[in-house]
Amino acid sequence: MPVIDLRSDTVTQPTAAMREAMMGAPLGDDVYGEDPTVTRLEQTLAARLGLAAGLFVPSGTMSNLLGLMAHCERGDEYIVGQLSHTYKYEGGGAAVLGSIQPQPIEMEADGSLDLERVASVIKPDDFHFARTRLLALENTMHGKVLPLDYLAAAHDFTRARGLALHLDGARLFNAVIKLGCDPKDICRYFDSVSVCLSKGLGAPVGSVLCGSEALIAKARRWRKMVGGGMRQAGVLAAAGLYALDHHVQRLGDDHARAARIGEALVDLGYEVELVQTNMVYVRMDDRADAFKAFCAERGILISAASRLRLVTHLDVLDEHVDAVVEAFAAFARR
Ligand SMILES: *Cc1c(COP(=O)(O)O)cnc(C)c1O
Repeated sequence: MPVIDLRSDTVTQPTAAMREAMMGAPLGDDVYGEDPTVTRLEQTLAARLGLAAGLFVPSGTMSNLLGLMAHCERGDEYIVGQLSHTYKYEGGGAAVLGSIQPQPIEMEADGSLDLERVASVIKPDDFHFARTRLLALENTMHGKVLPLDYLAAAHDFTRARGLALHLDGARLFNAVIKLGCDPKDICRYFDSVSVCLSKGLGAPVGSVLCGSEALIAKARRWRKMVGGGMRQAGVLAAAGLYALDHHVQRLGDDHARAARIGEALVDLGYEVELVQTNMVYVRMDDRADAFKAFCAERGILISAASRLRLVTHLDVLDEHVDAVVEAFAAFARR
């Protein structure tokens, strides 16, 4: 029975062509700065984002951590959404490893942070307080795309307040494809951007942190300290380069399939949130565990939650969409 894995877009297998690109990549010791493929990935992605420099790292968690640590010193603070990955899903790394205090705030339904609310938690310059240094946003946020005019407002806000602005752009290219814009149209507002290669882009490993030369030089020091210096890492970077060349435009297919699932579930009477990119959120309440087991019998893997998240990706095809919709239909008929 084929397995249809909707738990995340991290579950993709590298394609045959991607594996071939990895096999043929020229390699060197990247800690010595001598891996041509890593260097090419860092420069290629930074250029595409319109930022000066890039740093290849093993994970998005490390990429965000290094970004926060490059912006903030010990005793500094960053403002972040309650549900943001950097705050909620990275083991408290900024606080634990960076001595950076998070100031989480409630998020808006569209995934943004209300700038007046942000302003209200910025600390005065007084030794009682941590020094507020940075605002961190996420895009896409739970599959939602932050509007460009909001990003412009956040940029102006941070300039006026002397804050830096970081983007957790794990799924930046999903936002780019949804908006039909250039990555620079989003990244021009940020001092640093973290992009995951191992989500919808379909590479097995890796993220890239992009920013100014000075910021990336700082992040490179921290990367070595936290154990992220890799040697012949070009074998991995080659997968990222391949993904940037071949797997960006096709994200639109993932979005179309997610939309198709969403529309079919609405027709079946399920409560579905508006689908913008590659995630479908379905309200399941206390039926989630039963539905998970029901799906497992049909070779469909989902993460059970009262607000169920289905994620489309490279390995979810049209016939899989049909099977998923049929599973929801059969579950509703039970
Ligand atoms: C997946 C993800 C990350 C990084 O995750 P890793 O598993 O460490 O690569 C960061 N931010 C967001 C929004 C993510 O979805």
